Amino acid sequence: MQQILDDIAAQMALETDRGKVADYIPQLAHVDPNQFGIAVATPDGKMYTAGNASTLFSIQSISKIFTLTIALGKLGDGLWTHVGREPSGDPFNSIVMLEHETGRPRNPFINAGAIAVVDAIMMGHEPREILAEILQFVHFITDDESIRFDHKVAASEMAHKDRNASLAYFMKSFGRLKHDVDKVLGTYFHQCSIEMNCQQLASAGLYLVSNGVDKHSGVRVINEHRARRINSLMMMCGHYDGSGEFAYRVGLPGKNGVGGGILTIAPGKGSIAVWSPGLDHIGNSKLGLKALELFVQETGWSVFAE
Ligand code: GLU
Repeated sequence: MQQILDDIAAQMALETDRGKVADYIPQLAHVDPNQFGIAVATPDGKMYTAGNASTLFSIQSISKIFTLTIALGKLGDGLWTHVGREPSGDPFNSIVMLEHETGRPRNPFINAGAIAVVDAIMMGHEPREILAEILQFVHFITDDESIRFDHKVAASEMAHKDRNASLAYFMKSFGRLKHDVDKVLGTYFHQCSIEMNCQQLASAGLYLVSNGVDKHSGVRVINEHRARRINSLMMMCGHYDGSGEFAYRVGLPGKNGVGGGILTIAPGKGSIAVWSPGLDHIGNSKLGLKALELFVQETGWSVFAE
């Protein structure tokens, strides 16, 4: 495994077309695109890393996996009255489907869906209480209390909130959101601003590798069915309008973020985190996707093969 990761990192270092760093969140525009990290955590407690695997980055939409897990724990299947489970085939911040579906977002991973999930878990609580819960959950699944929000990134997103605010107000106009829009958005932007490195992220994914059981403590985070269903949603909707391409090229459940990270789950085998800040036109980490493609070729890890 170590050899595979070293080879991938060496290949990625030679790549010249690294994509473009997201700049619609100005605070992310400063990140050096010449970075690449990969980490693999396995259920027997091993961790393999290569490249910039201990450099912190903004996990952005990867955080939507964690809020979805929390929401399913709190609301159970009641969550599905707030948000759907279908791929959208549209960009991450698209508004068009909301009109066709009376303000109900197609799935929890597009921005509108993630905003609806935050509104659903607020249930009358203040943003700081929900944020404390999200961070506590991330600390628990990583066994690492050093993980923090990056308040500068959250503030930068709040200052450029127009598109996400449009989605939120549009949903509210259909009576879908129950809380104050700015409170919901503030919570959502902080959730997205969590900073992690590849090692921490790979470690965070282990409960989805192991049928919902936290490998650090042996404690069940979520029941087996839900873990399986979160993986299904990641497979179908984890990369917005690039979900089909990701499934075709990688063949594993995954979730990307505009910070350039991708968390990928090989059930029963391991959790793979990659990061490289340059994105393709859809918003996927360009080298991250390439590296994952090489990784599955080398390891044979797939949900479509033994
Ligand atoms: N915080 C970002 C946004 O709402 C998340 C998008 C992403 O990572 O895909 O625009």
